[in-house]
This record gives sequence, structure tokens and C-alpha cells, in this order.
Amino acid sequence: MLLLTPGPTAVPEKIRMAMSAPTIHHRTPEFSEIFRQARQKLSKVFGMPEVLLLSSSGTGAMEASVTNLCRKKALTVNAGKFGERFGKIVKAFNLELVELKYEWNTPASVKDIEEALQNNDDIDAVFIQVCESAGGLRHPVEEIAKAVKEFNKDIVVVADGITAVGVEKVDVRDIDALISGSQKAFMLPPGLSMIGLSPLAIKKIEEKSFGYYFNLATELEKQRKDTTAWTAATTLIIGLNAMLDEIFDIGLDRFYKITKARSKASLKALEAIGFNIYPKSPAIAMSAVYNDRADEIRKILKQKYEVNIAGGQDHLKGKLFRINHMGLIKPYEASWVLNALEMILDETKVRVYNGEANRVFNEIYYKEIV
Ligand SMILES: *Cc1c(COP(=O)(O)O)cnc(C)c1O
Repeated sequence: MLLLTPGPTAVPEKIRMAMSAPTIHHRTPEFSEIFRQARQKLSKVFGMPEVLLLSSSGTGAMEASVTNLCRKKALTVNAGKFGERFGKIVKAFNLELVELKYEWNTPASVKDIEEALQNNDDIDAVFIQVCESAGGLRHPVEEIAKAVKEFNKDIVVVADGITAVGVEKVDVRDIDALISGSQKAFMLPPGLSMIGLSPLAIKKIEEKSFGYYFNLATELEKQRKDTTAWTAATTLIIGLNAMLDEIFDIGLDRFYKITKARSKASLKALEAIGFNIYPKSPAIAMSAVYNDRADEIRKILKQKYEVNIAGGQDHLKGKLFRINHMGLIKPYEASWVLNALEMILDETKVRVYNGEANRVFNEIYYKEIV
């Protein structure tokens, strides 16, 4: 079965092998060295001075960013399940909340953010997804972050980049915390989250520490000494270090280029055989297609063609399918899905098969990656 859901993503064999070595103790020089290397490489990927590793799924890092970086009032962007989650975390910790709501295919606008800031002069942190995975939507995060900083440079900008870090080079000039998770572009099993920090975020964390398990002041102090506050997710971090070597062997820019080519070629191929792309501004991480027969298509895809892709949630249940582009995916795997989708359109009497999806995919993909 080909796993092409936008998280978890398939774990490459080399990484599975790296993680199959006997468990080592986390308070040893051997592990500290691996930990140091992994953090150093992550710092390059994130483009930020510090990246903290937490033993949790991505939501743990989301929660840590709220509790450690927002003191009074948060502005959140809800254009899907993950943006909604930021709002729920803010409420769970009894912080004040201003939430901007959008349809799941619509990116947040700079103007709305500016208005919200003008109307609420006590907002001290802004939370947004780079890619809102619920609808495969790319928010104009860089422009929004810039506008926030122009309004007030002390407002912390938190970007959930779980489906963006390792997919594309996120411009972190105006971003203070960038969140990621192991099970998306880093192609690891779930259970590890990461949070990149700017100098301002570091300053705020050091000024006032909050919480216990997700206390970033404690983590910052420990991780700077190449260890963790609590037992580290040793196996996942060993896998992460191996994965980062793999990515740097390819070259980070080259890796991004290949991901982008695969994403663009897939999108064009889907359009060429008549599918409607759901988001108004599609993210690179995945292709999200709006289709009334999405569940039937996914069922045939799984049973007959052995490909597992994701569906829609909430009001988009049964109306959406999402194909992952994150990580190391072979072009023949990506084109296999598109070909299978075209065959499904034929067998469900929607469109006569003529090989168009593969033709378009290969033409664009190989032109883009040179
Ligand atoms: C997957 C994902 C998360 C994290 O979810 P977990 O299930 O806690 O790992 C957060 N934000 C986005 C945009 C995601 O795609």
C-alpha cells in the first residue's frame, strides 16, 4: 500500500533501519552528540537561532507556543481544523481570544489582520498556519508577519509550519516561532514536535517561564547543553538526524525544488483531467480536490490501486480528497496515483481514459527539476 496522506507520511527504509539500532540511554555523551547534530541541522532548515525538540505530536508544540509566548490576548486565524485548534488552546488556558474565521479554501488577508490589531491594542501574539492542512491552503504568512511587525514589533508571530517546514523555504524574517512535527515532511513516525525560535521569542521565554512539561525556558536551558529536560524521544531523534543527513545529501534547495515540481505537476495533471482544486491559494504540501464523490474515489483508489490518500473533515467530509507531496516521494509513485485517478474517472463513466494525467505530470515534472 502506497501511503500518500498528508501526514503521517511514509518512513523511508534507510530511516527505519537507523531507528532499529538498540536503544541508548538519553543521558550519555553518545546521545548528546546525536542530539547536538540534529538541533544544529534543524537550525539550518528552520533558519532560526534555536530549535527546541519536544516529545509530543505537533499539537504539543502548538500548545507550548501559546502558553509560553502569549500572556494576554491572542489573535488566531481559523481557516480549518488546525487554525481552529489554536483558538481552542488559547481558550483552554483562559487567555483572551480574537479569532478571524475564513472558509477553508480562503487565505487570510493582511487587511483583516491589521484591522483586528487596530481594534485590539492588547493583542500580544498572532497565531497562524503556513499551510492549513484541512483544505491544503497556503496563507500569505510572510506578508501577514511583516504587517504585524510594522504595527508593533513586540507582538509575537507564531507560524504553524507542520506542513511547510521541510516542504519549502519559509521566510522567517518576521516570524518568532515556527512549529513542525516529525510525521509530515520529516518522514518520521509521529511523536516528535519542533519549535524554532527567534531572538524575540527567546527573550520572552527567558523573561517569564510558564508551565511544567512544556516549559520552554527549562527546555531552552537544557537543550543548549545538548540534553532535554525530560527523557528524550531518543529513537525518533536518531531517525531525525539520519533523515536530515539524507536531505542535506540531496541539498536543501534541491529537495525543495523537487517537492515543488512534484506538487505543481500533480496539480496541473489533476486539473487536466477535470478535477477542481479546492483552495484558492494551494499549498505545496498537498493537492486538495473538491469532489462530491471523493469517498467513492478514495475507496477504489485504496482497494484496487493500493493507494491511501486523505479525505475531508467536518463540513468537507466526503467532499474532499488530499494527496500528499511532502517528503521523499518518487515521481513514479506520484504519477501512479494520478494515473489511477484517471482510470477511476473512466470506470465511473466521468471521462474516457487517454493517459492525459501522466502525460501532463511527466512533462511538467521533468521540465521543472532540471
Ligand atoms: C498535522 C498537523 C498538526 C499537528 O497535529 P498532531 O496530530 O498533533 O501532530 C498541526 N498543524 C498542521 C497544519 C498539521 O498539518
